[in-house]
Amino acid sequence: MSNNDCVFCKIARGDFNTEFLFEDDRVVSFKDLDPQAPVHVLIIPRSHYDSVKEVEDEALIGHLVTAAKKVAEKLGIKEYRIVMNTGPEAGQSVFHLHMHLLGGRAMRWPPG
Ligand code: AMP
Ligand code: ZN
Repeated sequence: MSNNDCVFCKIARGDFNTEFLFEDDRVVSFKDLDPQAPVHVLIIPRSHYDSVKEVEDEALIGHLVTAAKKVAEKLGIKEYRIVMNTGPEAGQSVFHLHMHLLGGRAMRWPPG
């Protein structure tokens, strides 16, 4: 399902002619607007879910991870961080499920 008020649904539909680093029938991947690392890419399902909590389709979660690995390989990063912020307290600001792929610099732990 696509949500008319959701910016990521619009991106997935191609409303903004966003360049996709990867796309297939279930997911699309594009550069984050406000990159926090030399590589900062989002991978999202074409279908709208507010967050990972709403997803019962385990294959979709696996598909997102596989897509992230493909994008990392395409961009030539061998070490990276995959993040799914879930809920405002965890830093989620866009309520269409997305996976962050971050790389290209040393990461600190724990995250803030
Ligand atoms: P989160 O804070 O985990 O919900 O992540 C949302 C991410 O989406 C942030 O890193 C934003 O920079 C990014 N973002 C928001 N709007 C857009 C957009 N139109 N195109 C690309 N990235 C976006
Ligand atoms: Zn959406």
